[in-house]
Amino acid sequence: MSGPVGRRSAPPNLCDHGGPATVERVERGYRVRCMVCGKAGPARKTPEAAHKALLVLGVRDGSR
Ligand SMILES: [Zn+2]
Repeated sequence: MSGPVGRRSAPPNLCDHGGPATVERVERGYRVRCMVCGKAGPARKTPEAAHKALLVLGVRDGSR
């Protein structure tokens, strides 16, 4: 059976990091900083992984 794989509604959070973000090159790889809320995610080996890490930590490890 096909589940709902459509777009999920925006989470009730301050920022869903769906806006513009900058990718910074660091020693360990890449780090993505959200230009909306200014939060930076952990360093990852690839920009994609870094962005994903920012999304996950932004929801789970928020300061709220
Ligand atoms: Zn953000």
